Amino acid sequence: MLVLVINCGSSSVKYNLIETEGESEVCSGIVERIGAVTSIVKHQPAEGDYLKDTKVISNHSEALLEIMNYLLSPESSLISSPSDIKAVGHRVVHGGEMFKDSVLIDNVVKDAIEQAFDLAPLHNPPNLKGIQAAEERLPDVPHVAVFDTAFHHSLPAYAYLYGIPNRLYRRHKIRRYGFHGTSHYFVSRQYYKLTDKHKKDTKVITCHLGNGASIAAIRGGDSVDTSMGFTPLSGMVMGTRSGDLDPSILFYIVEKEELPLNSLHAMLNRHSGLLGLSGYASDMRDLIAEANNGDRRCQQAIDVFCYNIKKYVGSYIATLNGCDAILFTAGIGENSALIRKKSMENLDILGIEIDDERNENVKPGRIEKISSDSSRTDIYVVPTNEELVIAIDAAKIASASDQSPWV
Ligand code: ADP
Repeated sequence: MLVLVINCGSSSVKYNLIETEGESEVCSGIVERIGAVTSIVKHQPAEGDYLKDTKVISNHSEALLEIMNYLLSPESSLISSPSDIKAVGHRVVHGGEMFKDSVLIDNVVKDAIEQAFDLAPLHNPPNLKGIQAAEERLPDVPHVAVFDTAFHHSLPAYAYLYGIPNRLYRRHKIRRYGFHGTSHYFVSRQYYKLTDKHKKDTKVITCHLGNGASIAAIRGGDSVDTSMGFTPLSGMVMGTRSGDLDPSILFYIVEKEELPLNSLHAMLNRHSGLLGLSGYASDMRDLIAEANNGDRRCQQAIDVFCYNIKKYVGSYIATLNGCDAILFTAGIGENSALIRKKSMENLDILGIEIDDERNENVKPGRIEKISSDSSRTDIYVVPTNEELVIAIDAAKIASASDQSPWV
């Protein structure tokens, strides 16, 4: 089934056209800087020429029109009619407590996504805009919402409750939700497939290390704990996000720096993490290059990042009472031998040992084992593919809705 996957940010629309039967990508692309003086449009068909252009695109609806026009254009010859697309899968970051699985989008679902605006103010509003824009362009196709939070619905209460008055949970649903669910789900399933292990008997720790980063403990195929919490701000130090800190620090900063609350929000989300620590960059490649040139703060930022990974892995081994495999994924996890090595250093007491040669020779896009033969825990690099998970879910739900209006 041909599925269009849409991932909308406040000023961008990313898309992937995926044939779910062969699990193959037909085309991908992005419209960036929506609403700016000029927007950037990029299309990359699996076969054919990469196209980059600048255009004036003032909103998400026009971005979707641009994407559809490209897919339908005789030059790309990717689809001949909008009806070739049989389903649209939308990445939605926050599903609140309501959505344990992907769902067919209707007005009730859209209302619920809107109700979760407060929980993910940076993500859910553009996600909803993307749904509305895509419905406008593809009105006769089932649209499916796939939530970043859904996979973590299996967290037990002792892992999702915070130590604050319980009525705040009851009234406002303040709890740990967890994010990057499609990625944690996908890489754990890739491991089960690869090793023929039955998920029921398996304990894995998945490390999704990109600009946003989170770690999850997965027992019997279910997420039982994860580092991100109420919002994607918490947990590990990330590219520009602070990760966990003592909440008292916030009151202290407000008082000492005389900051309004909204600047605190920007500071924690956009000016902290690796960028804040290094004072130089949020991008791991830049930090590694500068640290190699002797920059102490860049080195410290890398050290903090790796120490965070180690602490989560250690604590999740306790959560799981053992661990069959540690899986590294996303931009940093898949590409940085240095970060994998540093974060797994001196863990031999827990039976964790990287093989340096295997680690250094990981080929991009491949699942590779990087633990030594004597390591009691497998360590793998597993490329993530969140778009494929979204496409497969959308195809499944679209087929079911074809057969029954009650799906
Ligand atoms: P996003 O969360 O935006 O999807 P990605 O998964 O694309 O992020 O990861 C981006 C991060 O991956 C950046 O910090 C980038 O520097 C890092 N990265 C990509 N390639 C490498 C590499 N070869 N070595 C170190 N870091 C890398």
